[in-house]
Amino acid sequence: MFIPRQFKIKRISNSIRIRLNHIQIQTLSTNLTSNTTMDFHHVSSSLHQFRASANSYLLQFEPLALLLIPLSTLFFARLLRSMLAVVSEKGLKSSAVELVMASVKLVPGVQRYIDAEKQKVVDKLQGSGKSKRDGWRTELPMAGLGGEVIDKMKDEKLKDVAWQGKCSGTVYIAGSEQEGHFSLINEACSMFAHTNPLHLDVFQSVVKFESEVVAMTAALLGSKEKASGGQICGNMTSGGTESILMAVKSSRDYMKTKKGITNPEMIIPVSAHSAYDKAAQYFKIKLWRVPVDQDFKADVKAIKRHINRNTIMTSMELGELAYTHGICLHVDLCLGGFVLPFARKLGGVTSISVDVHKYGLAPKGTSVVLYRDHDIRKELTSSVTEWTGGLYVSPTIAGSRPGALIAGAWAAMMSLGLEGYLENTRKIMEASKRLEEGVRQIPELFVVGRPDMTLVAFGSNSMDIFEVNDIMSSKGWHLNALQRPNSIHICVTLQHVNVINDFIKDLADSVQTVKANPGPMKGGLAPIYGAAGKMPDRGMVQDLLVDFMDNSC
Ligand SMILES: *Cc1c(COP(=O)(O)O)cnc(C)c1O
Repeated sequence: MFIPRQFKIKRISNSIRIRLNHIQIQTLSTNLTSNTTMDFHHVSSSLHQFRASANSYLLQFEPLALLLIPLSTLFFARLLRSMLAVVSEKGLKSSAVELVMASVKLVPGVQRYIDAEKQKVVDKLQGSGKSKRDGWRTELPMAGLGGEVIDKMKDEKLKDVAWQGKCSGTVYIAGSEQEGHFSLINEACSMFAHTNPLHLDVFQSVVKFESEVVAMTAALLGSKEKASGGQICGNMTSGGTESILMAVKSSRDYMKTKKGITNPEMIIPVSAHSAYDKAAQYFKIKLWRVPVDQDFKADVKAIKRHINRNTIMTSMELGELAYTHGICLHVDLCLGGFVLPFARKLGGVTSISVDVHKYGLAPKGTSVVLYRDHDIRKELTSSVTEWTGGLYVSPTIAGSRPGALIAGAWAAMMSLGLEGYLENTRKIMEASKRLEEGVRQIPELFVVGRPDMTLVAFGSNSMDIFEVNDIMSSKGWHLNALQRPNSIHICVTLQHVNVINDFIKDLADSVQTVKANPGPMKGGLAPIYGAAGKMPDRGMVQDLLVDFMDNSC
């Protein structure tokens, strides 16, 4: 027979009540048998006795002490707890260094001395120091310049340093700005400079472009294959950093929904991009950076040790690990997305970031973030229903977004096609190999790790590699200084294809110069890089960087 649910519950609660009654009756009856009044007297007199003896014992202490001891114990317990929290977050060594530094700074004059020294370093990092800003405009001109403004801008542009073929990464498109692919995307951008995909009812063109850029990028990375699950979706963002921020935030919120994780942690190799630190700072996630192995690859064992019930995400080559632990896996293909034809094998991947504005040869300010399925992406879309401005929904950090850049990315991808990218990749890979060979020919240098792609990093055991970098800078090269180990790298782009031999020659000459005449070069940054790498007080290095930025803009 069908029994209504409510009825069953009622029946059960009835039977509980009956049993409870039974117990009550039993206890009542036991009490009745003993002498209740006697018992009460006994208990209250022993309470009195306890109070009297406790009070007479405590009389020997000062009342103030009695008040202060528990209060200060509480205070010290809290202090100890926050100290333990700092140690567990920063590690014993850096916490100790910080404590020592904080005490040293209490000595009169020390803080002032440190500030002055810091300012000197900041000025040096800025090149000519404060004077650079002299003459910079601080107000609108009273009368507008009209069309003349373009001439003014042409003058300013002449002051940029010559980047053509000389910068690591930075400009990925081949040739000169006035022709070819450059003019094509410039024209595409200017056609759509007024558009904004926030108004998707008005600018249907750029909405379609965005969707197609995402789909075409996803297809490059295997979205058409069965293993992908057929649910891949994504958005365009302003760059790799925003793509990574989006992936981290969606993972955090997805894991909160799925596993109830409220104190999220994520684990990445020390070599992963600093955008993950930014994400951890913005979104309140504890970040574990674990060392890499001798080949500079992610150390799976070390990462495994940090996995716990609060882990929401890891990155890179750790598909299997993420999959078995049910955590999110972001793959940062910001650089490699348009070069490496892979990601097909990666089972546990939940999100991928790919910069179209690097090897995708799109205008700067374009990247794609892909999600495994719509559930993950939906965690991110912020919707506001109670705003007097109306119903609002937006998929990424920015509200208004530049339709021009989306159009530029679409133009770049459509004009190149699969064959265009293949041909470019062939040229860049070939140039990178030649460059790597060239570096290996210089006995004073060693190549860091095994360059699989288009980046070659090198250091030296016999000289200060940052001094070599300073000489290279004086020859017009702009390379990237790395630490742990101290080294410099070049990210090879189409700009370099025809200048590899010049690079190798300049590098070999620079090494000889430093070998013949070691020591810091006037105006060089080597001493600063060297010192910044070795300084035990990382908080100080952090302050330096913040001051540098604050003085720059
Ligand atoms: C460039 C890059 C980023 C960050 O991208 P931005 O466009 O500078 O924000 C992140 N990860 C990797 C691997 C990159 O190459």
